[in-house]
Amino acid sequence: MNNEEHFKNVISHSKEYGFIFPSSEIYDGLSAVYDYGTYGVELKNNIRNYWWKAMVQLNENIVGLDSAIFMHPTIWKASGHVDAFNDPLIDNKDSKKRYRADVLIEEYLAKQADKIEKEVEKAKKRFGEKFDEPLYRSTNPRITEIQTTINNVYSRFKKGMEESDLADLRQIIVDCEIVCPISGTKNWTDVRQFNLMFSTSMGAMEESSNQLYLRPETAQGIFVNFLNVQKTTRMKIPFGIAQTGKAFRNEIVARQFIFRMREFEQMEMQFFVQPGTEIEWYESWKKKRLAWHHNLGFPQTKYRFKDHTKLAHYANAAADIEFEFPFGFKEIEGIHSRTDFDLKSHEKFSGKKLQYFDPELNSSYVPYVVETSIGLDRMVLAILSQSLTKETLEDGTTRDVMNIPHFLAPVKAAVLPLMKKDGLPEKALELFNKLKLHSFCQYDEKDSIGKRYRRQDAIGTPYAITIDHQTLEDNTVTIRDRDTMKQERINMDEVESIVMKKVDITEALKRL
Ligand code: ATP
Repeated sequence: MNNEEHFKNVISHSKEYGFIFPSSEIYDGLSAVYDYGTYGVELKNNIRNYWWKAMVQLNENIVGLDSAIFMHPTIWKASGHVDAFNDPLIDNKDSKKRYRADVLIEEYLAKQADKIEKEVEKAKKRFGEKFDEPLYRSTNPRITEIQTTINNVYSRFKKGMEESDLADLRQIIVDCEIVCPISGTKNWTDVRQFNLMFSTSMGAMEESSNQLYLRPETAQGIFVNFLNVQKTTRMKIPFGIAQTGKAFRNEIVARQFIFRMREFEQMEMQFFVQPGTEIEWYESWKKKRLAWHHNLGFPQTKYRFKDHTKLAHYANAAADIEFEFPFGFKEIEGIHSRTDFDLKSHEKFSGKKLQYFDPELNSSYVPYVVETSIGLDRMVLAILSQSLTKETLEDGTTRDVMNIPHFLAPVKAAVLPLMKKDGLPEKALELFNKLKLHSFCQYDEKDSIGKRYRRQDAIGTPYAITIDHQTLEDNTVTIRDRDTMKQERINMDEVESIVMKKVDITEALKRL
């Protein structure tokens, strides 16, 4: 199965097994908005919980917050979102489709880089053991030609983005002969800026003074509460404030399932530090956040750092953690050194001081901020696309299995009576009622045992425990492992401690 097929499979599997549904489906859906089903919501809660525990519970110097989605509209003026939260967009006149100009160019660059990798792969096969890859990369005329194109386009693109030179962004698209994937033509409009914030109004009157924005990030709620939190928790710098919650962006190109949504959830942490120490903290948070991702147990080659081409107006250093989704490496989390831009700007617009008195320095200052910002929905997509596997078994049949890390699995264990009679359901319910006190488990007595195993595999349940006639005789049950499909007989009294230890988040937190 190639990546495109795999991605399609992830989308259809998510719907069929109750992870993710298109929003308002019976009304033909609402573009780039999705609802989470029974298993999706469990998975999402578990990821959020993993983030919250890793950030707030494990760090004595990070505390939580839950600020409102509606905020005073001047906040978005101060943050720069009213004036600068724009994407450069371009339309193809033939297909009438709208694209982000920066994305078209980035995709072009990625395609060129791909061509180089293909050349290298071919040569590797051709030359075998004698192959000198660095030499080949630096001397092969075709490769050096592509590399020069990449370098030239990239530096023009970087300058165009930094200077918001919309005419040159268009010219790059023309010069690179980028075509619309739908119409196949190069008939492009000019590039324009488009603000991504949704607005609404508060109160009965629809006056412009009542205009509000749906927050495009959760971070500003943290900044405007900085002193409230610092004073009430008596935190000393360096310290962080974490929050999770919905954010809204009127994305121009909303594609790729839950990767780019118009309503999504962020998990953000702002870490307040003494000015001058921010780069040290930025590097340390980059490491910590990558370790959090690696701790899921997926191959480490699936993650990489990418420095930003264009630093946002507030940042003096920024990198993304990228994950290899079925459609390529894309941002899953951003780590930004935001300087004192936000707090200073809120001081200016609100007329209130947002300073910290440092008892060690015996002076007050506006702290610098290092931010970690991760999309919860992108985490769900990463886990679903990495976990879903179509396995061919020894007997030639196939099974769909979700190898979700145990501590994140929506259902931790399923308790299955072999038959619906002879007291087996009663015995199974006895066990189920104990397990459900720990975490979300399921009791299932419908269909054949084989079908029930497959159903649990498809939603990623790590353990299935079967109660049969032998259970009634010697109090033993079989426990089946999702990944290996191996079955073992153990005493029913041990199930609770064995299974719950294996699926418990504490073990994952210990590894951090
Ligand atoms: P992109 O470049 O993909 O648009 P971004 O750089 O604008 O993302 P940030 O503003 O840094 O994203 O937001 C932090 C995180 O929020 C991202 O790393 C991503 O995981 C998530 N995120 C941002 N926009 C969306 C969206 N439209 N849908 C889902 N998640 C999103």
